[in-house]
Amino acid sequence: MRTLQLPTGGEMPVLGLGTWRMGENAGHRAAEVKAVREAIALGYRLVDTAEMYGEGGAETVVGQAIGEALRAGDVRREALFVVSKVYPHNASRRGTRDACERSLKRLGLDAIDLYLLHWRGSHALRETVAAMQSLVDDGRIGHWGVSNFDTDDMEELAQAVGDGPVCAANQVNLSLGERGPEFSLLPWQRERGVPLMAYSPIDQGALAEDEGLGELAARLGVTAAQLALASVIARPGVAAIPKAVRSAHLKENLAAAELKLDAATLEELDRLHPPPRRKRPLAMI
Ligand code: NAP
Repeated sequence: MRTLQLPTGGEMPVLGLGTWRMGENAGHRAAEVKAVREAIALGYRLVDTAEMYGEGGAETVVGQAIGEALRAGDVRREALFVVSKVYPHNASRRGTRDACERSLKRLGLDAIDLYLLHWRGSHALRETVAAMQSLVDDGRIGHWGVSNFDTDDMEELAQAVGDGPVCAANQVNLSLGERGPEFSLLPWQRERGVPLMAYSPIDQGALAEDEGLGELAARLGVTAAQLALASVIARPGVAAIPKAVRSAHLKENLAAAELKLDAATLEELDRLHPPPRRKRPLAMI
């Protein structure tokens, strides 16, 4: 799979598995562990989770699946790129470190590859960044980044950091249904080599039902969800993390990473879902 270069060195797969809504219901746990394991067996190498998802439940699901996959020899730890996030209310200097240790325990890992501030809260950015950097220095995380940061937040972060450590990625809501970040945030990040991770890239499943997209996809011999994903990662510097539990969805989405869209298709997509003409506030889910 294609990868994106991180400004902090190393690289990140252009498509990964989301896990929001996993770990919320004990009755679904076996199916969710099975889905994450299947994803790894199929070739997914990036898994996105957060302490918020199921209040640690999703990290436990991910941890169990990764543990099983490692023991079965399906994958090597170094080949996986595990992303998790700290709650803003935990993102103090001490709180970030404590939250990270709890996440590592649930994940059953020695290190998280990319650790994000889930959204902006009341703790000073400088404090969170200092904690993040100390976690990098201690080898508890590979890289740190942010989520739900708009262009002005990224500017403020850059000011807070000064000549200090570089933010590795920003994860925001971006799909054909929500193209706002393409106006100024994505260009800002591209200029600085900071990848944008698109969350809800199928608009929480809605784009799979989009009629116009469905017609265009059928002409190309793919599904609407695949076209939605391919269009997101066709943008330079953008990765996507669709969530799926159903086996057919896992397979479809992974295959979408290999689709190449020609200029005529991208134009048609712009007609169906026009790009933003002015700055809009970042849409959060
Ligand atoms: P999404 O990935 O756009 O959509 C997930 C939904 O689409 C699920 O109901 C899934 O069904 C369905 N689906 C998946 N593949 C499909 C396909 N090929 N055809 C038809 N339906 C399909 O939405 P999301 O879960 O909101 O976003 C993805 C991930 O981004 C999250 O899981 C989370 O890791 C991350 N996220 C981050 C933030 C943040 O604040 N940083 C916010 C939201 C999400 P099944 O599960 O039944 O297969």
